[in-house]
Parts: sequence; C-alpha cells; structure tokens
Amino acid sequence: MRYFLYVSGGLLLVLVFVILFNTVRYSKELPKHAAQPITGISDSAALHLSEAIQIKTVSYGESLPIDSAAFHAFRRFMEVTYPLVHQHLERTIFSEFSFVYKWQGRNASLKPYVIMAHMDVVPVEEAAEKNWSVPSFSGTIKDNYIWGRGAVDDKSSLVAILEAAEQLLSQNYQPERNIYLCFGHDEEIAGLRGMKLIAEWFKSNNIQPEMVLDEGGEVNTHNMKELNRPLAVLGVGEKGYVTYQLQIEKAGGHSSMPEKETAIDILTRALSKLRQKQMPARITDPVQQMFNTIGPGMSFTSRMAFANPWLFKSLTIRQLEKNNRTNAMVHTTVVPTIIQAGVKDNVIPTVATATVNSRILPGETSADVENFIKKTINDDRIQVQRVEKLTIEPSKTTPVSSHAYQIISSIVYKMVPDVVVSPYLVIGATDSRYFRDFADGVINFLPIIDTKGFHGVDERVGVEDLKRMIFFYKAVMQENK
Ligand SMILES: [Zn+2]
Repeated sequence: MRYFLYVSGGLLLVLVFVILFNTVRYSKELPKHAAQPITGISDSAALHLSEAIQIKTVSYGESLPIDSAAFHAFRRFMEVTYPLVHQHLERTIFSEFSFVYKWQGRNASLKPYVIMAHMDVVPVEEAAEKNWSVPSFSGTIKDNYIWGRGAVDDKSSLVAILEAAEQLLSQNYQPERNIYLCFGHDEEIAGLRGMKLIAEWFKSNNIQPEMVLDEGGEVNTHNMKELNRPLAVLGVGEKGYVTYQLQIEKAGGHSSMPEKETAIDILTRALSKLRQKQMPARITDPVQQMFNTIGPGMSFTSRMAFANPWLFKSLTIRQLEKNNRTNAMVHTTVVPTIIQAGVKDNVIPTVATATVNSRILPGETSADVENFIKKTINDDRIQVQRVEKLTIEPSKTTPVSSHAYQIISSIVYKMVPDVVVSPYLVIGATDSRYFRDFADGVINFLPIIDTKGFHGVDERVGVEDLKRMIFFYKAVMQENK
C-alpha cells in the first residue's frame, strides 16, 4: 500500500511538473504595435454610404422577386458617385445587377487581387421596425455613426472599396497588379445569380487570383476579456452549407377522431431528436491556429489548457460548447429553419415538411450530415432530400504563410494599435466561398471595430470605421510586393 502511494504520489508530481513546464514554455508576451494615423480620407464618404443605405436593395428570399427598380437605382448611384471608376475600369455585368470592374495593373505577370462586397441587404421585419432608433432605411448620420440596414453588412464595404479606388484614380494611380472589384447583388440569398457566376467567369477565363478579400472577420475589443487587446480575426476558412427537406406523408383525416400518430407528430418528434444531439466536436485547423495565436496572451488557466491539449482538450471543447457562437466553431450544426403542415383547424394534414439547415466544419461533408440526420431520426417514413443547388462543401483553408494572409495581417498591424491578428473560421457563408477552390488565398476581413446591429436592430457603422475601411482598401490596392 505504501509503495503504491509512493508511486502514485511520484507520478502526480511528474504530471504537475509536465503541465507547468508546458504552460511556462507556451506563455509569451504578445508584441505591441503603434499604428499609423488614419488621414487623408474625405468626409463625403459618410454621405455616400447614407445615400447607398436609402436605396432598398433587399433580398427577400431565394425564390422571391427582387425590386429591380431599387437595384437599377443602386447601379445609377454607383455610376454617378464614382465617375473615375467607371471611366478607367472595365465593367462586366452579370444578371443585370452584379458587376466586375477590372483595374489594369502595370505588371500583368503578377496574379491579380479580387476585392469584393455585396449590395443586397436582408429585410427589416415589420415588427422590428419600432425597435429601431431611426427609420431602418434612413441612412441617418448622428452621434458619429451612419445608421440603417446595410450600414455594416455590406454597403460600408462596397462604398469604402469604391471610395478608395476613386481617390487613387484621382491621383492617377495605377496598381502594380490587376485588381478586380467584384460586387454581388444576391449574397444574402446564396449568390447564385451574382458571385457564383462571377467565379465561373474567372475560372473560364483562367484568371487565378493571388488573393480574394471579402467580409467575414472584424476587430473585436470586448469579447476577449482575457486577452485584453483588440483582436482582429482574419477568416481563412469557411464552413460548408447544406439544406435538407424532410417530408412525411400519412393519411390525414378529421381532427375529431385523430389516429395515435399524425404526420405532424412524426415530423416534430424527428426534429426534436435532431436538436437533442450534435455531430461530434472537432478542433479544425483555423481554430487550432487561433488558439496558437491568442493562447499565449491569455490567463494562466487558459494557457495551461492550451499548452496541454493531451489533458485538457475535452475540457476546452466543453467550455466552447457553452456559447452558441463558439459552439459553432467546433461542431457541424444542424437546425430546423422552416416547418410546414396543415391548412385548416379541423383537418389533420396528409403532408408535413421541414427544412433543416446545416453548416459543415472543414473535414466533414454534406454526406456526413445526411448520414447523421438519417441515423438520428431513425424513421424510414420520413424522406430526407438534399437541396442540391444550395450545397457547398466546406472550403480548403488559406494558410497563414500565404501571400494573402501575410499582406492583410501586416496592413492590419499598421492600422490598429496593439492589435492581435489571428486566423479564424468563418461561421456564416459569404460570397467568397465560390472562389475558395481556385484562388491561392481567400481572406474574410473588414477593419470595423465592434460591429453593431448586423442583420438586427440599429445596424450602424462608425464614421471612423468607414474611414478606416477606406484607408485599409487603399493600402491593399497600393500593395506592390
Ligand atoms: Zn454580408
């Protein structure tokens, strides 16, 4: 017994020593940086964004018509506000409202950059309108913010790109390499008529971008309390996207004499099973790289966990699972989004359907999701059908060593004082997904600090943020390595 105590006591000491040794070796002070002041940006950009917000370029739904008058007005707004861009860059039009502008560079042997944004916005629900501090499409400028749907997602980006190009053109600037400015009009409804066609056009013309820059990451100053530094996350990979239709058909009848089980019962039971289970957790490359970047600057306990994954990995995952945002970083998510059955209060419906949307972690596929759904609901009466045209498998990730990552991170370091720049897995879906299989690098990032109201109430962007974005795009356009 005593021998056993000695041995286990000794082992425990070794264990504690290894954990501490790893933690100390792992810990380091993250470097601090001064930043350049953001100067030379005119105030008219805010007015232009305000004007852009007032044009209601809403994407209502994949199968619903768009307000083409609004999209025509937006096209006109771009032409009138940015005359030099339209004079000097060659425009190609896709599906009437999506555009590619080619800016000829001096050195045609270099691979081009693609800088993109989208002009469509999500609707504002009627019930939510009263919660806005200003009318949702007013483009009001007050308290140093520009307010309205699209202020963040993604008209600020579109306006900033065009402001940057217009300013540089007014100084007779010509970029080193070709730059393509790409603007989609249906990003919020999967980009099938816009960026998907644009990406196919790039492929069929054998244009292989060195870098694609799109929305998706930003600068955050308060979500990472432990780090106590601004954190800029550069999206280097994106989750995949797949949607399934679940359908059950079963004889209905009069609601006065229901059978033991109706179509609605069967479907809702299946959905509730799906919600009780998650696909297995996994730490993907971008998430691991994020840990590697920010981990050394975190608290002692966090550093201990990151430095000893052999012991603390499952604990780290459980921590991440507590919050829906971080949970989505380590799981392929599966959630019902539409449910339909029934037409009359006294009739039991014959058909019940549900739409289930999934965002797939890199390393898994839509086939894995389908297996998971079928196995979990375990009911042959329910047909599970994939919506093919919306399916996008998870992307390959952009390496930190790539030209694209290196260029963008060096610009961000120069712009935001003491910022920590980290790779990141984009949880949503952006238009840039159509470029991931052939571009050398895709980076999702906008230099907005602490976005407000994105897809929600009181969406707004700081006047300073807009200036920083223009400054950022100018730096990218002037990059000549
Ligand atoms: Zn967007």
